[in-house]
Parts: sequence; C-alpha cells; structure tokens
Amino acid sequence: MGKLEELNRVADEISRCEECKRDKSGLPVPGEGNPDANVIFLGESPGFQESKTGRPFVGRAGKFLTKMLDSIGIERKNVYITSPVKYFPGRRAPTDEEIYHGRIHLLKQIEIINPKLIVLLGNVASKAMFPDNKMFVSKIHGKAIEKDGRTYFPTFHPSAAMRFTKMRMKMEEDFEKLKKLIELP
Ligand code: URA
Repeated sequence: MGKLEELNRVADEISRCEECKRDKSGLPVPGEGNPDANVIFLGESPGFQESKTGRPFVGRAGKFLTKMLDSIGIERKNVYITSPVKYFPGRRAPTDEEIYHGRIHLLKQIEIINPKLIVLLGNVASKAMFPDNKMFVSKIHGKAIEKDGRTYFPTFHPSAAMRFTKMRMKMEEDFEKLKKLIELP
C-alpha cells in the first residue's frame, strides 16, 4: 500500500472515531500535504474555518502560517500540515485528554510519512510529542531537539504570533533557523 493510501486509511479512521468527535463539531481535519514530506508542521486543533472545509490552517492563523512558510521558500504542498486534535473543539483550548487521544492517529500519520523534522507550533503540539515533559514554547523555541532519530523544532503557534508583535518577531527568527535546518543534507 502506498503512503497516500495509508494516510487516507488513517483519515477514514479519524472520520469514524467517536472519541475524536466528543464535545467537538464540524468536519474532521486529518491533515494535508505531501505524503513523502521531509517536514511535518504540527498545530493545535482545527478552528471554525477548518471545521467547515476539512482542511488544516485555512483561517486567519493559516494565512499567517502560509506567509511565514513563503518567507523561507516553503510551499504548503511540499510539506505535511496537521494537528494533534482532529476536530474543532469550539472556542476553548483542547484538554490534555483530547491531546493525548489525538496521538493515536497522529503517531500513525508520522510513522507513515516518516519525516526528518517535525515543527511544533505552540504548546499543544509540544505536549503531544513530549507528553512527559512540561515544555513551554516560550522557553524552548528555536532550538532543535533530537529524539528517536527525528528532529523536533518548537516555535510559536501562528495564532499567538500574529497577535503579539514580540512573539511574531521571535517566530520570524525561529523560521530563519528553520530554513537552515531544512537545507541541511
Ligand atoms: N490552528 C491549528 O492549530 N490548526 C488549524 O488547522 C487551524 C488553526
């Protein structure tokens, strides 16, 4: 089975997963992009626009992320973009249980795509990948973390960075570092 078919199978599991849907609404947002991507961008949970379209990062934060990617020469179609939580939780932060549950599907997606690098956009993404460490992005952003043969790169969530100038400036600096990291052989 090819990677796309395997990813479609996980998307199908997500669309039937009652636990994923609990207390949430709209279409499932499994993720999108290149199944052979070297890089995954990991967010938090879909917003309202995403829940209407079934696509990740298409609302205001998504437009900001797309601009940030453009600024370092990355096209969305060449990477994979997803979130630990696969349905819109409404105007609230996802709970730890929801983040932890999302890992069931997320870890399958990561295994299929097998990227070299995972960019952690914010605290929820960091919590999803490092559930045993209390890692705050404000403390750990912009430094690569090596774990089990993969590199993780924490930075800010686009919806925070687009609202707060200081965070946006730090995220821009982080993306310059990210550009270099991606260019490494
Ligand atoms: N925020 C996220 O973390 N993911 C989306 O898809 C949209 C907004």
